[in-house]
Amino acid sequence: MPATSLEQIVSLAKRRGFVFPSSAVYGGLGSTWDYGPLGVELKNNVKRAWWRSVVYDRDDMEGLDAAILMNRLVWKYSGHEKTFADPMTDCRNCKSRPRADHVFVSQKGRDPKGLDEINAAIAAKELKCPKCGATDLTEARPFNLMFRTTVGAVDTGDDSGLAYLRPETAQGIFVNFGNVLDTMRRKLPFGVAQIGKAFRNEITPGNFTFRTREFEQMEIEYFVRPGEDEAAHQSWIDARTQWYVDLGMRRENLRQREQAKEELAHYAKRCVDLEYKFPMGWSELEGIANRTDYDLKAHSRSPENPDAVGELKYFDQEQKKHIVPYVIEPSAGADRATLAFLCDAFDESLVKEPPAEETTKLRELVLSFAKSVDKKDPKAFDPEAKARLVAAAEKIAAGLPGTLPELLALSDDEAANKIEVFKKVRGVSEKLGEEFTRTVLRLHPRLAPITVAVFPLKKNEPRLVEMARGVKRDLQAAGLRAVYDDTGAIGKLYRRQDEIGTPFCITVDFQSLEDKTVTVRDRDTMGQERVGAGELGGALRAKVG
Ligand code: ATP
Repeated sequence: MPATSLEQIVSLAKRRGFVFPSSAVYGGLGSTWDYGPLGVELKNNVKRAWWRSVVYDRDDMEGLDAAILMNRLVWKYSGHEKTFADPMTDCRNCKSRPRADHVFVSQKGRDPKGLDEINAAIAAKELKCPKCGATDLTEARPFNLMFRTTVGAVDTGDDSGLAYLRPETAQGIFVNFGNVLDTMRRKLPFGVAQIGKAFRNEITPGNFTFRTREFEQMEIEYFVRPGEDEAAHQSWIDARTQWYVDLGMRRENLRQREQAKEELAHYAKRCVDLEYKFPMGWSELEGIANRTDYDLKAHSRSPENPDAVGELKYFDQEQKKHIVPYVIEPSAGADRATLAFLCDAFDESLVKEPPAEETTKLRELVLSFAKSVDKKDPKAFDPEAKARLVAAAEKIAAGLPGTLPELLALSDDEAANKIEVFKKVRGVSEKLGEEFTRTVLRLHPRLAPITVAVFPLKKNEPRLVEMARGVKRDLQAAGLRAVYDDTGAIGKLYRRQDEIGTPFCITVDFQSLEDKTVTVRDRDTMGQERVGAGELGGALRAKVG
């Protein structure tokens, strides 16, 4: 069963070392996350698979790693200083600060035409504060999303040392267009790929790692002759969609959304968003835009840009003249892609039904938990959390034992844990979960944090331990991420590896000592086969692809 709520993913991610709340020892920093031992492997594999597909598997691409800090003028002429902003409004009644365009969309059912239309609606008291319902909102003002910092030892108090943490990696590629062109002797069409951190002081971060203030982008700028841009754009839309599918993402959970004319950025000719069906709904994974010649022109010396040192252009041998290439930009988020792969791979189900009396007991406990939440003084308990918990508990109670996985996901819920009865609910559900559910991350073998885990049948049998450790070493030497584990019975070890998405488990038993074969168990089919230890590396490499 796929995840029905993001909480199930968050819970697994925290429990099994994929993602932790950042600076948790000091109470955390809102919407900031650290990738743990398994998360860093998963995200690195996502980035590696992307790089392989867009750089190594093609003949028309180069890589780049530009600096995060750039000359401030880059952001002046790219337009970010002026326009990279969200409109904010303050509620005079409850002091909250919602995004004015979101308020407009949710209350008017359509996009606003601009800041003026939002402000006209605020002045006419047509918009309400989404938190308290008051119509006492201030005029909306643009709030720039770029993080500011100071370069140099002394903060002079003026803007002379001002720099920004880049809000996108793309500009690093545009300003290096000439360098890549000259040094790599490229002809159009060609592209440049880059993976790197980007920072945006987002007003409403949230949904786990979906929207954060620090994140990683995987961006391509693909340069083409004007006139060849539309075909190149379509071919990137197809290629990028296929990339997710080839790495195991279900096609029905992916869709292409054509941006409407009014939505398009002023420089874009066409833009298609790839969206994924996250547990919270369809949301953007990647944007693929035709940015025309806007960016290269913006960073070229002209009456509008007297600060640029030269022109970013291309000498077209065929036409014997200089042209400014058009740019196709497939821009993806490494964190969002990682989250989407996690959601898509998540599969938690009941392997068998618990005895009826156990289910009845748990149902009663969950209902009494719902009642306790309901009784809680709203002043001491956030009303939103209260309503959410009561609805979740009632839904879970009605669906037990099938909803046991959803109940397990509540274990980490801070609000739920404030209710005394929940401790009991947790104890009983975790015990039943251990016995009756199976969680599997069906990650593509190329993405799985660990490719293969090796176990000795008995940990107190030195010959088995020695051989198993040797198998692990050989697999690692063959370039496969392998781990050795002897901290439990084989069944328990399989369960643990299933939960973190390891596609292959190997057991070394007494027969192995005699004929040098081992058992390879497949995560998805649960089938087992005996393979010669000497052929393991080749056999598994072929399966990973
Ligand atoms: P959104 O509409 O979701 O804010 P965007 O259209 O502003 O995204 P782009 O500027 O096109 O995003 O950035 C390209 C990609 O970078 C997005 O498709 C997404 O995968 C990723 N991305 C953008 N902002 C964030 C963020 N705050 N946190 C995580 N990933 C992000």
